[in-house]
Amino acid sequence: MRPDILNPLFAEVRAMQGVGPKLAKPLERLGLERVKDLLYHFPASWTYRKPAALLDMDDVGQNIIIRLIIAEHRGGSSPRAPTRIFASDAEGNYVTLTFFGRNGGWARKQLPLGEERIISGKLERYGDELQIVHPDHIERMDSGDRPGLAEPIYPLSDGITSRRLGQLIGDATTRMPALPEWIEPSLLAARGWSDWQTSLAAVHRQDSEMARDRLAYDELFSGQLAMRLVRRAMDRRVGAAVKGDGRLTGLLRLPFDLTGAQKRTIAEIEGDLAQSRPMLRLLQGDVGSGKTMVALITLLRAVEAGFQGALLAPTEILARQHFSGLQRLLSGLPVNIAILTGRDKGRARESTLMGLADGSIDILIGTHAIFQEAVQYKALAVAVIDEQHRFGVSQRLMLSRKAKGVPHLLVMTATPIPRTLALACYGEMDSSQLDELPPGRTPVETRVMSAERLTELIDAVGRHLALGKQAFWVCPLVEESEHSDLAAAQQRAEQLRLRFGDAVALVHGRMKGAEKDAVMAGFIAGKTRLLVATTVIEVGVDVPNASLMIVEAADRFGLAQLHQLRGRVGRGAEQSICLLVRSANIGETAAARLKLMRETNDGFRIAEEDLKLRGSGELLGTRQSGDRPFRIATGEQVRRLIGMASDDARLLLESENGGDADGLAGSRGQAARIVLYLFERDAGIATLRSG
Ligand code: ADP
Ligand code: MG
Repeated sequence: MRPDILNPLFAEVRAMQGVGPKLAKPLERLGLERVKDLLYHFPASWTYRKPAALLDMDDVGQNIIIRLIIAEHRGGSSPRAPTRIFASDAEGNYVTLTFFGRNGGWARKQLPLGEERIISGKLERYGDELQIVHPDHIERMDSGDRPGLAEPIYPLSDGITSRRLGQLIGDATTRMPALPEWIEPSLLAARGWSDWQTSLAAVHRQDSEMARDRLAYDELFSGQLAMRLVRRAMDRRVGAAVKGDGRLTGLLRLPFDLTGAQKRTIAEIEGDLAQSRPMLRLLQGDVGSGKTMVALITLLRAVEAGFQGALLAPTEILARQHFSGLQRLLSGLPVNIAILTGRDKGRARESTLMGLADGSIDILIGTHAIFQEAVQYKALAVAVIDEQHRFGVSQRLMLSRKAKGVPHLLVMTATPIPRTLALACYGEMDSSQLDELPPGRTPVETRVMSAERLTELIDAVGRHLALGKQAFWVCPLVEESEHSDLAAAQQRAEQLRLRFGDAVALVHGRMKGAEKDAVMAGFIAGKTRLLVATTVIEVGVDVPNASLMIVEAADRFGLAQLHQLRGRVGRGAEQSICLLVRSANIGETAAARLKLMRETNDGFRIAEEDLKLRGSGELLGTRQSGDRPFRIATGEQVRRLIGMASDDARLLLESENGGDADGLAGSRGQAARIVLYLFERDAGIATLRSG
């Protein structure tokens, strides 16, 4: 149960005063559901203002705050002519306040002749004159409101302004309860950090590294603590020792030999399975390194020993691809495999549920639906999670009482995790690495080209398709809304259809499951030759005949995403090409990302660099936040603070608990429970008896 003290923080933003239905969409897009989400929505940058007594040419280029007398109204007679309002300072120096469009009428009312106003805005030079275009604040002398010397600029979405968001966040800060301190007092003192409430208020008032550090530390600390609690609980629980005898894997007829890395990893897994202490292992392997084979052999070991296995995929498409792939590999073997996703309903679903309960199904493949309440296994002993980005899901899974005993768990990820982050996200897991690609692969060649060469690009696609090969075409991510993503992709698909006809198909995130599957099936079967997509193809899809990947506006994608996308090609023996199309004016960081992609195919190097580039304060689009393990801590903060957070979490559990199961009992322990709930890492609390 969540402590009551957190109720105001978990209240819904929708229910706040003045939040109407019009804000619902933008708030949702920004992930701002609860009051605490507002509080943790940090400014991306700041506007600084200089209080000025007099107008001064030397201040051109600065944001100033100044007291002015309104002297004259001009222009605005036609909608296109700007309204120009002349105002003077105390010594009679003039500045023109310029307003375009309909703002003119409003400005005349706000700035009546002869009156004084406090004005702020960016001072510019216009010929010999000074001007401020659309001042960002106009305050009456008798109003108490004054523009701040520092104003936060928040990450935004369509339909909400930074100022409106600032107001909501301001409201949220008035609702903050004082929380008991969970950070070790000596640490707090040594760092000079303030308490939680003070730090959160500070983050929205000024650019305070100290406050941001404290709050990032909270997040890292909660992650470390949750992981330790889960690991401790796992260590105390008993699963089934799984000892496969090889009678099934011996029957597999593989068209290739396992790589050394696959063999080594399988041996590590077998070592874990043989223990009754449940396995908790992370398998990292770059795209194409052959994780599926490792998963298959792991699952077969369970079946050989008389148990069941389950494979969890993140999307419907991937679940279906795994299902048909494994079905093919297992044909002729006495193994019964089934699929279950949210889309399976009615009789088929009923019969699958029965097969799981009576043990006639050996291996179940599916999406998260396979761990829902209604799904009862006879003897689930091994669960494999594919392409897992977030640890929370697996934590919950481990602690679920689904299986008799606790299933052995293998989490597979193709997003290589830099060492620093690995400690933060998966520090309590054992880890294996598939650091060797199957032989005979030719590394993908990556080129960067400018968007102006679109026609050339389409010609190149034409030559590629004429050779009987297939290609992906990924359309740009548009920041503003999903709707425009789709529109862009549809438009591009239309254009390509004019040229290539029925060889082109479009797949996007808004499609219904069955529709999407049909398109993917067409591509896998080779009927569709050019697949135009929004990023739904990001994970997993395996089509060896596809050897050209085009990513439009590649500068808008994160490095990890680009690497994933590129991994969709280069799966056959022939040379594959990845064309990254860059937009016209791109920033330094985006250019650095593309350069890196051209230089290396090494996922680990890319991951390290990604962390560095992100760490340097680059604004992250909300799109990318899904694959970030932390919401507020930057890469740089993780590197700097993770060691401390890890030690602190260990010390807390050792000191106040002596390792007993009623952990988090003392006063700091109680406070620590609060931070676990605050960051929704409370899965670990369920492991405590006094929960
Ligand atoms: P990922 O690690 O990205 O999930 P997959 O398991 O999809 O990779 O494997 C990629 C491709 O490599 C598949 O076509 C698979 O059949 C093939 N493959 C897997 N292991 C080997 C191997 N040892 N030798 C050759 N090909 C392999
Ligand atoms: Mg895979």
